Amino acid sequence: MAKSKWEYVKGFEQEETLLPSCWVVIRLDGHSFTRFAKDHEFEKPNDIQALALMDYAAQHVMKEFGDIRMAFGESDEMSFILNKASTLYGRRKSKLISLIVSCFTAHYVNSWSSFFPNKQLQHLPIFDGRAVCYPSERTLRDYLCWRQADTHINNQYNTCFWSLVHSGMTGAEAQDTLKHTQADFKNELLFSKFGINYAKLDPRLRKGSIIIRQPKRKAEGEQLEDLGKPMQLDAANHVPSTMPANLKGLEVLHEDIIQEHFWVSRPEMLR
Ligand code: ATP
Ligand code: ATP
Ligand code: MG
Ligand code: MG
Ligand code: MG
Ligand code: MG
Repeated sequence: MAKSKWEYVKGFEQEETLLPSCWVVIRLDGHSFTRFAKDHEFEKPNDIQALALMDYAAQHVMKEFGDIRMAFGESDEMSFILNKASTLYGRRKSKLISLIVSCFTAHYVNSWSSFFPNKQLQHLPIFDGRAVCYPSERTLRDYLCWRQADTHINNQYNTCFWSLVHSGMTGAEAQDTLKHTQADFKNELLFSKFGINYAKLDPRLRKGSIIIRQPKRKAEGEQLEDLGKPMQLDAANHVPSTMPANLKGLEVLHEDIIQEHFWVSRPEMLR
């Protein structure tokens, strides 16, 4: 095809590619979710359905992009780990971030009514995204440790904060009570004042969500899901009980990934 005289402007495009042989983390985060949570009356400190919806959207992203090895989610954020040898879209940075973020957002919105059958979306959720390259298994694991430690620190603080507020304190008073306090103080406060044993809280809240691929069995008979149909929620697991067949190989765990055990028992994970 003949080129137009305007085509030279294509030369102004700058395509950044992600370093080869590095683990790529693409992390997305909800835009102004403090407000989104308020507008949609999320339970405080943690709305389990909202967390389960994040996991569910992430499972769809992993179904779409086979080069994603695992994902880690907490609060309004999700990190996708792209295989270090991946050549997906020539490792073009903006292509990968934009596809993953828009795929996630589309599934979040599409599945909203299954997770919140009695709540209309008041406004549309949007997410930002970034990509970071980690040159070794150690730095990648330290990244994941960082996010899981963050999950714990935020959850411990928020559990204290909202226990105080629900017991009658104002936000400012609760904040003041917790200012400069250490983990021991917070655990003791939860136990002595509210009868909460922090270590016994739902691991989803303390550890976040780790989404991994089950070793592949027979892919035979894989079915396309019906995206339009509302799904029944399984009350115990907070996931649709009619999980589409094509998501079944994607498992959501709430385990410790800071200790060695998780990795030693899955030597193939970061190969
Ligand atoms: P930004 O646009 O800068 O990301 P933000 O308001 O989204 O701003 P974050 O630091 O991302 O700020 O924090 C996420 C917010 O969303 C927190 O206020 C958190 O309490 C709330 N949130 C996210 N998920 C849940 C949930 N499942 N239950 C209750 N609150 C939630
Ligand atoms: P890529 O993922 O690389 O963008 P693509 O298949 O989307 O691949 P494009 O170069 O973006 O390729 O071209 C868009 C395609 O979508 C073309 O095949 C175009 O004919 C089709 N398409 C887009 N919008 C319409 C439309 N409104 N009506 C009919 N066809 C459309
Ligand atoms: Mg932010
Ligand atoms: Mg946010
Ligand atoms: Mg956040
Ligand atoms: Mg296109």
